[in-house]
Amino acid sequence: MKIYIMQIISKIKDYLYDFGGLIYPKICPGCNMALRRDEDFICNNCLSDVTTDSIFALVSKQVNTMFAGRLPIRFGAALAKYEKDSAIKELIHELKYSGHKEIGYSLGKNLCEKLNDHNKLDDIDVIIPVPMHPAKKLQRGYNQSFWIAKGIGEGKEINVNDETLIKAKKSESQTKKNQKERKQNVKNVFYLTDIELFRGKHILVVDDVLTTGATIESCCNELRKTPQVQISIATLAVVS
Ligand SMILES: [Zn+2]
Repeated sequence: MKIYIMQIISKIKDYLYDFGGLIYPKICPGCNMALRRDEDFICNNCLSDVTTDSIFALVSKQVNTMFAGRLPIRFGAALAKYEKDSAIKELIHELKYSGHKEIGYSLGKNLCEKLNDHNKLDDIDVIIPVPMHPAKKLQRGYNQSFWIAKGIGEGKEINVNDETLIKAKKSESQTKKNQKERKQNVKNVFYLTDIELFRGKHILVVDDVLTTGATIESCCNELRKTPQVQISIATLAVVS
């Protein structure tokens, strides 16, 4: 009986989260504490645990170093290090595996503030989330990178495009692969349906976690088929 009631409660909670897309949940998914009226989706304590100005600067430098000599980018940025027991790791896990897409939106807003503090968004024309294969999107219900992109774009009214760059081939999970295998696994899996649409534009490519950078590199290589395109990268966390 108790299990049955819990299942019903869980169903109702899911329904409330989905209803209208962005209904405020009452509980912070990071710490399970009740949210205050002025808090969106994640409590202020959990949000402030995610990053600081100095962590943002340090981790963003790491992203730039990762792609130096490998991919021409205008800038790279990240909120935090993806470490054991870190707030960001917990939140990304909830974002990907517990159906809480609004976590992506909140963290995206956080990333937007940090990027904005450094005037990084001033000449971004469009934000493109790393695409997910349609079958995987159907299984998860959403692409978490799209919600991060939405959080970044909304405050500055930058358009998010998740239609033109698509993931045409399914790749295996990258988790147990080494750097070389990861690169091979995601080679030629992305497809740009219109190579003129972003001509001369500055694109911000957005992902959740950066490990070896193989996925984002493959995405960017496809985007670079567009004439005179400029690319920057923003991610929630970097594995160090
Ligand atoms: Zn919290």
